[in-house]
Amino acid sequence: MQNKLFNFCPNCGKQNHTFQVNKFHCLECDYVYFHNTAGAVAVFIEVGEEVLFTKRNLNPQKGFYDLPGGFTDYYESSEQTVIREIQEELKLDVSNEKIEYLGSNPNEYEYKNVVYHTLDLFYKIKLTKKPKLELQQSEISTVVWKKLNELDLTTIAFESQRKFIEKLVLNLC
Ligand SMILES: [Zn+2]
Repeated sequence: MQNKLFNFCPNCGKQNHTFQVNKFHCLECDYVYFHNTAGAVAVFIEVGEEVLFTKRNLNPQKGFYDLPGGFTDYYESSEQTVIREIQEELKLDVSNEKIEYLGSNPNEYEYKNVVYHTLDLFYKIKLTKKPKLELQQSEISTVVWKKLNELDLTTIAFESQRKFIEKLVLNLC
């Protein structure tokens, strides 16, 4: 996917550059910017056979189902991202829970006309009962609990999650 922005060099302001894969190169002043892959996490919170999905309350993909998670911050481990995002989105403290890494998938995330390439890291947290949640209404309109093998994948917001859920259902990870 091509970026629609990045028309001008942020260093010299001229409009004479190449943008190949992740490398912006200004041919006037030799400035180089790497639009690198960003780390992100997505978490399967499981109770019995059911998994929690949030319904997105903002674009991209407003109204579609999503797993809790988000971008890693600077200086943060991906496990810390899991704990922080679940606290922010659901007001749920999982700092004492086992956070199990499952695998990863690449993803594209378009926000305000800029395409961010992410590496989505998938984690699982098993809880014994459904927790009481307080939703971050700006990002999430509601939550649902679904069995993965009964889930309509067309209602899932992101390709990386759809593909990962397909693998999980087939017991490939
Ligand atoms: Zn320049």
